[in-house]
Amino acid sequence: MVYQIKDDINEIINRLEKESISFKDKIILVSGGAGFLGSWVCDVLIKQGATCICLDNLSSGSFSNIIHLMDKKNFRFINHDISKPIYFGFSNYPNSVCVGDIKKIDIVLHMASRASPFEFKEHPISILKSNTLGTMNALGITKSHNALFFYTSTSETYGNPPDEAIPTPESYFGNVNPVGPRSCYDESKRAGEAFVKAYELQHKIRTKIVRIFNTSGPRIRHGPEFGRVVPNFIHQALNDEDITVFGNGSQTRSFTYVVDEIEGILKFVYNKEAIGEVINLGTEKEYTILELANLIRDLTNSKSKIIFKSLPIDDPVRRSPDISKAKKILNWEPKTSLKEALEKTISWFKDNE
Ligand code: UDP
Repeated sequence: MVYQIKDDINEIINRLEKESISFKDKIILVSGGAGFLGSWVCDVLIKQGATCICLDNLSSGSFSNIIHLMDKKNFRFINHDISKPIYFGFSNYPNSVCVGDIKKIDIVLHMASRASPFEFKEHPISILKSNTLGTMNALGITKSHNALFFYTSTSETYGNPPDEAIPTPESYFGNVNPVGPRSCYDESKRAGEAFVKAYELQHKIRTKIVRIFNTSGPRIRHGPEFGRVVPNFIHQALNDEDITVFGNGSQTRSFTYVVDEIEGILKFVYNKEAIGEVINLGTEKEYTILELANLIRDLTNSKSKIIFKSLPIDDPVRRSPDISKAKKILNWEPKTSLKEALEKTISWFKDNE
């Protein structure tokens, strides 16, 4: 299979334009724009003729995700950590970065945060900062430009839901350990949501919150120190290394292909009725982690053995979204099967590892 990211970008644009969704001439700030999901968003926005300001400190994002955009006149990269204040157009705040020539922003998409459980051990403070202080700073920019604010939250806000809350609706409040190894991410994303609602209430800002469920595809970070399950297993399988299933592999996740997720995100950003909404975007069908390991081993014709390692503390037992709200409000549901998603991702890995 010959895989090219540009075909998938065109697929997203076709799906959006079928519903007359276009960001042409909008000025959009994307924090985390050099990351896995952020860079896909930047690609689509640039191709649609928006002006895209990509803010990233390249701590987990990568310049290689955006290098092809650097010569576009509607693309601007700013190397900055969103957890530190930054203003566009005008600032009279002391000790803040000010980008004077950008006078008007229409939409702020706050997507910056490390998201891999492996990094929760190494970078808990910067994760907490980007989802709390970073969200506050991004909301400050939004307020000063009277822009629309879009926050990428996560299924982790639900923590470890019991069986009766699977599939999980947006109305479920969560079962989260505030002092556990995942709390820097789970609790800061929850605090980020609270910041969004506070600014909406107090400053009448137009906001939207998406809760993203496990998403993978080309450009997802790979390497043992990042450790999300899909890139880990693909890397291990392609190199005939042992595939490391944590626990007995009976825990479940539902996997969404990046094209479907970005389509859903941009439909939500655009949707005029969805102001103030919180919406899950993910795939309902659950797979056990052992099923995933076997599928990846088969698709790569790998000689890897599957081995079992201890289950991390607070690793959610089941995860699957209730996406009735996304279906109803956004007319969105994922279209790509797990097999097709993995085939494309594997093909990209072969060319890019
Ligand atoms: N996992 C695994 N082996 C790995 C990496 C992850 O078995 O090498 C498991 C992990 O314990 C979890 C699931 O795969 O149950 C999904 O992990 P991931 O890191 O992708 O993110 P999570 O969904 O937990 O946020």
